[in-house]
Amino acid sequence: MPTSAAAFHRRALRGLPGLVLWAGGLIGAFIAVLALMHQTMREHLREDAEGTAVQFAVMLSTSATDLAGLLRDGRPGPQTLEELRRMRQAGDVFRFKLFDVDGRQLLVSDDLARPDLGSDGAGPVANAAPTNEFVREIARGGPSHVELWDGAKKPDRPDVYSEAYVPIRRDGQVLGVLEAYVDQTEHRRHIYESLTRIALVVAALLIVLGVLAALQWRQRLRAERKTEERVHYLARHDVLSGALTRASFHDELEQAVARHRETGRGFAVLCLDLDRFKEVNDTLGHAAGDEVLREATARLRQLVRHGDALARLGGDEFAILQSEVSGPADVTQLAQRAVARLAEPYTVQGQPVACAGSVGAAIFGVDATNVADLLHKADLALYRAKANGRGTFSFYDAALDQQLSERRALAHDLRDAVAHEALTVDYQPLVAADGRKRVGYEALLRWRHPTRGPISPAEFIPMAEDGGLIETLGTWVLRRACRDAAAWGGELSVSVNLSPAQFRSGQLPRIVADALAESGLPARRLELEITESLLMTNTDHVLRTLHALRDSGVRIAMDDFGTGYSSLAYLWQFPFDKVKIDRTFTKNLQEDPKVDLIVRSIVSLAHALQIRVNAEGVETPAQLQTLQGHGCDELQGYLLGRPSPLSALPQPAATPVSAAEPHPATATA
Ligand code: C2E
Ligand code: CA
Ligand code: CA
Repeated sequence: MPTSAAAFHRRALRGLPGLVLWAGGLIGAFIAVLALMHQTMREHLREDAEGTAVQFAVMLSTSATDLAGLLRDGRPGPQTLEELRRMRQAGDVFRFKLFDVDGRQLLVSDDLARPDLGSDGAGPVANAAPTNEFVREIARGGPSHVELWDGAKKPDRPDVYSEAYVPIRRDGQVLGVLEAYVDQTEHRRHIYESLTRIALVVAALLIVLGVLAALQWRQRLRAERKTEERVHYLARHDVLSGALTRASFHDELEQAVARHRETGRGFAVLCLDLDRFKEVNDTLGHAAGDEVLREATARLRQLVRHGDALARLGGDEFAILQSEVSGPADVTQLAQRAVARLAEPYTVQGQPVACAGSVGAAIFGVDATNVADLLHKADLALYRAKANGRGTFSFYDAALDQQLSERRALAHDLRDAVAHEALTVDYQPLVAADGRKRVGYEALLRWRHPTRGPISPAEFIPMAEDGGLIETLGTWVLRRACRDAAAWGGELSVSVNLSPAQFRSGQLPRIVADALAESGLPARRLELEITESLLMTNTDHVLRTLHALRDSGVRIAMDDFGTGYSSLAYLWQFPFDKVKIDRTFTKNLQEDPKVDLIVRSIVSLAHALQIRVNAEGVETPAQLQTLQGHGCDELQGYLLGRPSPLSALPQPAATPVSAAEPHPATATA
């Protein structure tokens, strides 16, 4: 990963001053140790020289017979000269000078080689040398003085020697001062060797320390790099599936656009989603859902090639960036393979689970010229693929997808409206056979869209069903209707429409009971309207729920009776309280004599089964009359009252139709 390598180098550079400082410190420490050792060695040599000089002075004082005389008047006797001559090369002392207590130089051992010395009885140097101040200090009890010559390379001198000035004493009294030249070449070599050994050990230690520090530094860098890589990876990849996240997928797309502009290479986006994923999640649990998602990711990963990108955009939505696309055929091929792979059953918790996927695709440069639009178009195509039946593939199609796009936007707004309880309920009166007495109201949902105005429930109810909103919405209507009806008083009933989706969870009896309890509405005043389509699927479960509801005292009506294929077949399966003859029958009553016959038959059949009959869509007095003649128990339609908001209902709500509105006979639809 180039970015990460760059980051590594950046970090290494950042750490560099620290490392340089550390190395500098080590070298400095080493130099300091060397300097200290050098200093110590010089000290040692000085002390050694002083010690040697002191010994030599003691030897002089004890071995030279007339040393006191020599040091007093500078004239050595022959015997003393002879003794001094013997001492000329004693041990490491290769030369010496003698001074009197006033600092005057009396004798240099070099002169002892001269045969004429002392023959005249006088020292050649005696009284000649000027007074030496610091020698006089030593004679007066001042500190000894040592001068070290190391590598001075003087002629006739050893490489390393010291000139040590020490007092010469006898019986506690200072007789004079000795300057001893002590050869320390050997000694220094010994010390030097030991110190070198120590220095080497120290250096080795320091090197080991340095290496350890460098290793640790490198290890820390590596750990940091690993962490950074991991963070980078996590930021770019979805934790569950390991596919790219939406944001990094966008980056990939932007790069593909840049490449397209440079090289003209085509690419496409495929949006995929699993058709029944929500169901798997709801029925088998999230762990099962996660398993399916991981497996689906693995399958898709096998299909994409190097240079393509696979992302999980959220939930069960995936997307593929297909590179090197030269035409729709390339995209179709990949899409069909994806559909086929996703259609294979998944094994979740040991069970086979079907969870096919649909694919929608859009090609850059053909369907869209920017990333956002491309994704949107692929998404629209996916939406249509799903609408066309699941497990299919669609290309973006401008005309078709435009409609869908609007529908989707509407679905989105609906979700918002449901969340913010922006929907309302209208009530349409249900009127007794006499055409006057109100016996109840049907609750009908209303949605006024902020920009599009009122939208028909026939349009938004299916949308709510598709979008998984119907349960929330249905519960809301139920509670609202019960609350409103409880305020009407009397025996007025309220009819609430139910969608099949509301039966799925098995919670319906509880939700209904809660709505009743909460509002205080007696169960007998609530009527639930269902349609035939509900009974066509999962009949046993639905029938059980219906029985439970009816047992609780709630009435059950079959809505839109006669529009389905086998409405009659369901009549004997469940003891409905009411059937509502669909308004298409009412509309065609006068037009077609057969309709008249059918309506009459339905009424007599229902009555035989003790089921009451409602006729919907009564718009004209003629229709009213005919339906009354056929024996309908209850009538509903614009003629008798349009759906209206709660606030517009007559007070009391049971007020007969004639009193609240124009008389049915004179009203127009
Ligand atoms: P539906 O249950 O058959 O409701 C009766 C529909 O007929 C209502 O349409 C009502 O306004 C309309 N209508 C009443 N009298 C007349 C008439 O004389 N002439 C004509 N042409 N129409 C009349 P609306 O309110 O548009 O509702 C349409 C459908 O939406 C309803 O049909 C029902 O299936 C569904 N719906 C409404 N509210 C809800 C609800 O709260 N839950 C569910 N699940 N569905 C609802
Ligand atoms: Ca209805
Ligand atoms: Ca109806």
